[in-house]
Amino acid sequence: MTEQRTQEKTIALVTGANKGIGYEIAAGLGALGWSVGVGARDDGRREAAVEKLRAAGVDAFGVPLDVTDDASVAAAARLVEQRAGRLDVLVNNAGVTGGMPQEPTQVSLEQVRAVVETNVLGVIRVTNAVLPLLRRSASPRIVNMSSGVGSLTRQSATTDELSTGPISVAYSPSKTFLNAVTVQYAKELRDTGILINLACPGFVATDLNGFRGVRTPEQGAAIAIRLATLPDDGPTGGYFEDAGVIPW
Ligand code: NAP
Repeated sequence: MTEQRTQEKTIALVTGANKGIGYEIAAGLGALGWSVGVGARDDGRREAAVEKLRAAGVDAFGVPLDVTDDASVAAAARLVEQRAGRLDVLVNNAGVTGGMPQEPTQVSLEQVRAVVETNVLGVIRVTNAVLPLLRRSASPRIVNMSSGVGSLTRQSATTDELSTGPISVAYSPSKTFLNAVTVQYAKELRDTGILINLACPGFVATDLNGFRGVRTPEQGAAIAIRLATLPDDGPTGGYFEDAGVIPW
C-alpha cells in the first residue's frame, strides 16, 4: 500500500479478529473501504483470516497481538504506527469466558484472574498502547465488546439464561468491570473527540459458547460497526445493543 492510499483511508484495528464476531467486524469495516488490522495471537489463524478478508476485497493487514502480553501489545501499536502513522478506530473485541462452570463457590482464582486479564486488563493495555495513535485521528472511536450479561440490572432481574447467561463469577462480572472501566475512559477523554462506547452483540453462535447462540456473527458485529462509525456528535460512555441502550 502506498503512503498516499493509507492517508486517505480510515484505519481500524480489531482485536480477536481471526474468527467469530471480530472477524465479521473486520469484514464489515473493510466493506466500508477501510484499512483493517486483524489483531490475533495465533500466526496461522491470523494469516488465514487476512487472506479470507483480502479475497473478499478487504484491505486487511495482520497484526500479531496477544492482549494479555505487554510486549505483544507494544509491538502491535508500533506496527500500526509504522503502517499508517495513526489509528482512527479501535475495536476491543478479544474475549474469553474462562470455561464453565463458574459457580462462585467452586471457581478457582486462576480462572477469574485469567478472564479479567483478557477481558478487562487486555482492553486497558491495548487502548493505552494505541491512544497516542488515536489522538492523531480526526474522528477517533473506541468500541469495547461487552455483553448484556455485564448488566447488573439484567444479572439480578431474571433467571432467563438467554439474557443473563449461566451463573458465572468470572465472565459476567468481567463485562461489568469492563463497563465501569469504559465509563471512566469516557469521562477522562470527554473533551478529546475520542468517543468510547460499549457494544453488546446479543447471543451469537461462536466458539465462545459452543455455537449455542441464536444470532449469526454478522448480526453480532452490526452494533460494533455502528459504534465504530458514529458521527462526531455521537454518544460516548454508552452501553448499546441493536435495540438501543442497555440498562447498567
Ligand atoms: P470467539 O469466536 O471465541 O472469538 C474470541 C476472539 O478473541 C478470538 O479471535 C480469540 O483468538 C480472541 N482472543 C482471546 N484471547 C485473546 C488474547 N489473549 N489475545 C488476542 N486475542 C484473543 O468469541 P466471540 O463470540 O466472537 O466473542 C467476541 C467478543 O464478543 C468477546 O469479547 C465476547 O465476550 C463478546 N460477546 C460474545 C457473545 C456471544 O454470544 N458469542 C455475547 C456477548 C459478548 P483465538 O482464536 O486465538 O482464541
